[in-house]
Amino acid sequence: MKSTSTAKKFWDTVLFREIWDAMKVTFKHMFHRPMTFQYPREKRTIPDTHRGALGLLRYDDGKERCVGCDLCEAACPSRCIKVISEEDKSMPLERYASEFYIDITKCVFCGYCVEACPVNALAMTKLYEYSTHDKRTLLFDKKRLYEIGDRYIEDAKKYLYAHNLEKDDEASRAYRYHFPEPVLKSNDS
Ligand code: SF4
Ligand code: SF4
Repeated sequence: MKSTSTAKKFWDTVLFREIWDAMKVTFKHMFHRPMTFQYPREKRTIPDTHRGALGLLRYDDGKERCVGCDLCEAACPSRCIKVISEEDKSMPLERYASEFYIDITKCVFCGYCVEACPVNALAMTKLYEYSTHDKRTLLFDKKRLYEIGDRYIEDAKKYLYAHNLEKDDEASRAYRYHFPEPVLKSNDS
């Protein structure tokens, strides 16, 4: 038994068997389609479920969806969201976020904030190229979050559809929270 393993070791050494085994893997890969993307010239197709940078969304008429309820802030495990809300003076009882911050350096892209939002005002986009030398620019404020939301609105919608948070049909649109019109009218008069 011992002599067999010694002989095997001898022939393995003489024939460079380990090298041939390694070369076999190399040769096999010569006939495969290359997997490497020449980034940034070539970019991968990002799936709709991708959790990229967060953005704040508007309704189709341009109105901000966010009602400043703070639920996203409460749901965030990293405590990287800060919402300061105020009452809209022109619309009694209606609130909005006067300030909104997300420290994206602390974000773990879990998506809990998106799920917690009752009006789908937050969504994740396919934006991932925001590296910078200045860490301070990664504290996204309301303006930047709306810029991302406006620019990547189609990605954001796809994210919400893909995660079953919003459907593009009449029933879902009716379900979204809007401040009740009759209350507004009676307060105005
Ligand atoms: S994705 Fe997660 S960690 Fe990032 S802001 Fe939302 S809740 Fe917080
Ligand atoms: S983004 Fe949504 S959950 Fe967060 S404060 Fe605005 S409405 Fe509330």
